[in-house]
Amino acid sequence: MNVHLVNPSHVSFGTSVITPRWLYVLAGATPASFGNPIIVDETLTALDPSSIRHGDVVGIGIHSGNALRGYEIGRLARQRGAYVVFGGIHATLYPEESHSVGSAQAVVKGDGDVIWATVLEDCRRGAPKSIYSGGRIEPSDFVPARWDLVPRNRYMWASVQTVRGCPKHCSFCSVWRTDGQRPRQYATDAVIEEIVQLRRLGFRYLALADDNFYPVSLTDLQSASRRGDTHRLEELKAMRAERFELMARLALLPSDTVFFTQITMEAAEDATFLDAMRKANIKGALVGVESVTPEGLKDVYKDFNSAGESLVERLRSFRSHGIHVLGSFIFGLPSDRAETFEATAEVAQSAGLTFAQFVTLTPFPGTVDFGRWEKAMGSDPQEIGGIPLTRHWLIPQAHRPKIFSPHPVMSAEEIRRRTQSVWERFYSLEFIWKRSRFLKSLRGRLTFILISKIYRQMYADTGIATDSARVARSARWARWLAKPCRYLFSARPMPELQVPNSVFLDGSARLQEMDVG
Ligand code: SF4
Repeated sequence: MNVHLVNPSHVSFGTSVITPRWLYVLAGATPASFGNPIIVDETLTALDPSSIRHGDVVGIGIHSGNALRGYEIGRLARQRGAYVVFGGIHATLYPEESHSVGSAQAVVKGDGDVIWATVLEDCRRGAPKSIYSGGRIEPSDFVPARWDLVPRNRYMWASVQTVRGCPKHCSFCSVWRTDGQRPRQYATDAVIEEIVQLRRLGFRYLALADDNFYPVSLTDLQSASRRGDTHRLEELKAMRAERFELMARLALLPSDTVFFTQITMEAAEDATFLDAMRKANIKGALVGVESVTPEGLKDVYKDFNSAGESLVERLRSFRSHGIHVLGSFIFGLPSDRAETFEATAEVAQSAGLTFAQFVTLTPFPGTVDFGRWEKAMGSDPQEIGGIPLTRHWLIPQAHRPKIFSPHPVMSAEEIRRRTQSVWERFYSLEFIWKRSRFLKSLRGRLTFILISKIYRQMYADTGIATDSARVARSARWARWLAKPCRYLFSARPMPELQVPNSVFLDGSARLQEMDVG
């Protein structure tokens, strides 16, 4: 009986940017008596169905973006006599769909780390349950990933997690509802051990694949202090101190290690935190800017972000602390107008962003936006090929709309076209070359152009183009460009590397960090 773990994807690039961490965590959660799981990441190569045998277990992790391909694999695996188990955010939200469309015998809701061993035992006995509730486990139960199973030469970045959950409540995001609003931080020792293991294997670029690396803002501390809520204040301070402890330990790793994470814009006001990030070699962060206008930020419940000039200043402050920003913007918000696209392109360029992504507003299941939109669509929503629009992830990619809600003043095609032109402008050779000025050597600048182009190919055309020939062409280009790119990210394995000792911040340093007035 083999255990297969499959990350579904309709497009395979041969090389991938980031390791899908969940595959290696579930491999770690697989008891030794089942042997090493067979790991298939379809962003690298498509699944070979002949590898699945009668009585095997096939675990498929899905989010809404890859659910359709996941269901195809589920049906195929079931036909071959395997036990089919679904998990991941989408399966947690729509377990019944995994059964009816994906031929699942079992669905794991919530965190899979602990419950996975039970699922496998039940399959071995021939009696899997229809639903398993993994819940939200405590950090002490997080399972370390089995990085010894990763194909070293296929990924540019490895992924480590330091915190699950996010205290915010952005209307387009499902993280706070699925992973919860209480940040659950990994033990620093466990994080460092995983990173050392990855450096021993030759990964020096590491994504801290967190929901929000900055779970406690200065504003949170100040408002707890103002309310006189000492219990909450102490809790927040402890959480923040753990972040600093982690960063102090990261700083002890080899200095050529490069980390990248996701963070909220509020961190721009927290110079102590940004300095600690820089010392920890966290050289880049994805920052959800979403909109450059105050109305747009209200649309997405993200008014803790800034707009206008103060937005540019906040974004620049990351850069002045040595942290490169990948800014993420959303188009198609009700308050967007034709000039918003131009203004966004201006901000993206003038705020010193190193990379940017421009996505169209999509009501993803599990979000506040989706709930509102589904309700507005009523009981008889429009259908495409017999599938209601409110189940848009089941519509084949080529026929799936790019814009879901009628916009007050723009057509869907106009939003799509303008979004694409912002991508084109930001990633034009002229602009990339200008942005590469921070690099001193010609080689460095050429590398930056290559990486920028590949980023655009992988995420722009395959995401927003309507023309399937263009999507296929883009995927081919990305595949071709990805190969040389991968070598740029490889590093010498360091089998001799030891886990650095714990550090203790001295009391006065802690007090300074905690001094929030
Ligand atoms: S978008 Fe980011 S900040 Fe907002 S809820 Fe999601 S993870 Fe948190």
